[in-house]
Amino acid sequence: MTQTADAIIIGTGVIGAATAFELSKLGWKTLSLDRNSQAGHGSTSGSCAIIRTHYSTFDGTAFAWEGYHYWRDWADYLEAQDPNGLAAFREVGCLVMKTEANGHLTRHMQHCAELGCPYEEWSPEQITDRLPIYSLDSFAPAKRLDDPDFGQANGARLGGAVFWPKAGYVTDPALSAQNLAHAAKARGAAFRMGADVSEILVEAGRTRGVRLASGEILHAPVVINVAGPGSHAINALAGVLDDMTIATRPLRQEVVHVPAPEGFDFEARGTVVSDGDISCYCRPEHGNHILIGSEDPECDTHHWVESDTDYNRDFTDQWTVQAMRYGQRVPSLGIPQRTRGVVDLYDASTDWIPIYDKSSLPGFYMACGTSGNQYKNAPIAGKMMAALVAFCEAGNDHDMTPLQFRLPYIDREIDAGFYSRKRPINAESSFSVLG
Ligand SMILES: Cc1cc2nc3c(=O)[nH]c(=O)nc-3n(C[C@H](O)[C@H](O)[C@H](O)COP(=O)(O)OP(=O)(O)OC[C@H]3O[C@@H](n4cnc5c(N)ncnc54)[C@H](O)[C@@H]3O)c2cc1C
Repeated sequence: MTQTADAIIIGTGVIGAATAFELSKLGWKTLSLDRNSQAGHGSTSGSCAIIRTHYSTFDGTAFAWEGYHYWRDWADYLEAQDPNGLAAFREVGCLVMKTEANGHLTRHMQHCAELGCPYEEWSPEQITDRLPIYSLDSFAPAKRLDDPDFGQANGARLGGAVFWPKAGYVTDPALSAQNLAHAAKARGAAFRMGADVSEILVEAGRTRGVRLASGEILHAPVVINVAGPGSHAINALAGVLDDMTIATRPLRQEVVHVPAPEGFDFEARGTVVSDGDISCYCRPEHGNHILIGSEDPECDTHHWVESDTDYNRDFTDQWTVQAMRYGQRVPSLGIPQRTRGVVDLYDASTDWIPIYDKSSLPGFYMACGTSGNQYKNAPIAGKMMAALVAFCEAGNDHDMTPLQFRLPYIDREIDAGFYSRKRPINAESSFSVLG
């Protein structure tokens, strides 16, 4: 017998599972499909899961400030007790170094002031009080290890930073997706794992469902692409690429885990740090480790990959360059011989801002292009996707008259057209993981 649903959701990562939960709350009968065996085991499981509220654009900041509250109130938001436990949000704050490249964060502070999102300006002394292992010498611009000037301070010093106290990270991102899947199931949502979507079915000019690689056919009038780094392939199957100005593409990333310098408890006293001067971000990691990610400086090659399942999962010299860049900031950092961390994929969009939208095919929607910076927004993105699907299926033309969507915690209305697949490339973006 053919299984049917009101909506099929492709992907059970943190955004796919949030979309299932939010649509279920609206009374939709959803069926989530994933080729993996467990929810959250796509790029969500490799996420650094940093929750921060500063973004380059006003809309991005509003969305992230709204997004913070769901992690703060995680158990209440889920409305269901997961027997496997809940993902934990550690609110350690986020410190961002002021640099010329980020305009000394003037715009970011203006956005936050307008939105009532708290921040503090910190002097160099306040930075080293919190992080006594830090040297504030400036090293910009970022360099590769084979540059003879690598590791040479440029003579200037960091002049200060902005600290956002309402920020932190989630300790187990895969578990957070599983929490959402559990909450969705409690609302009647169905999940099928080990289900590889190989065709989008179209009938009379609209979505009719999907075919799995096994040949099985599943029918639904609505299909939502939340396939993470597999989003381009799914959009291609649906034949919806032609009217998109924003493309999505899988981009390989390496994340470094190193032990904190001896004598300093980074796990207890550390914070999230975004440091454009050395093009690294970091956060505390379990076992008094420091997790170090890249802020994509120009000198690094972007490793675009063709397939989201078949790519090099081994560390390369990128691991070493990131560790050494962070070693400029923390001279006592020991860099072990044994490489530890994560290799995974961003689903990068042309302007590093996600697409939350309908498509040219009636009944086919997409939440993709999350560009390494949308974990934090998963619950509110799921809520907006649910509202968008309901809005369009009620006969509204979101392309012509976009959904105006209220962010419930911060009580602000946003134009969901900001996330359109057909938008002009957003020049205010950082064109990096910072969004
Ligand atoms: C290294 C790294 C660090 C990051 N750090 C942060 C951070 O600190 N803060 C932040 O906010 N964001 C961060 N992100 C981004 C964030 O993790 C992602 O935006 C988010 O996890 C995407 O969730 P998703 O549900 O859209 O996709 P995914 O978690 O990738 O899920 C997509 C699912 O779709 C399934 N799928 C794909 N194709 C098919 C198919 N044909 N059939 C069936 N199933 C299919 C996959 O198996 C997968 O499970 C980071 C990402 C990476 C890779």
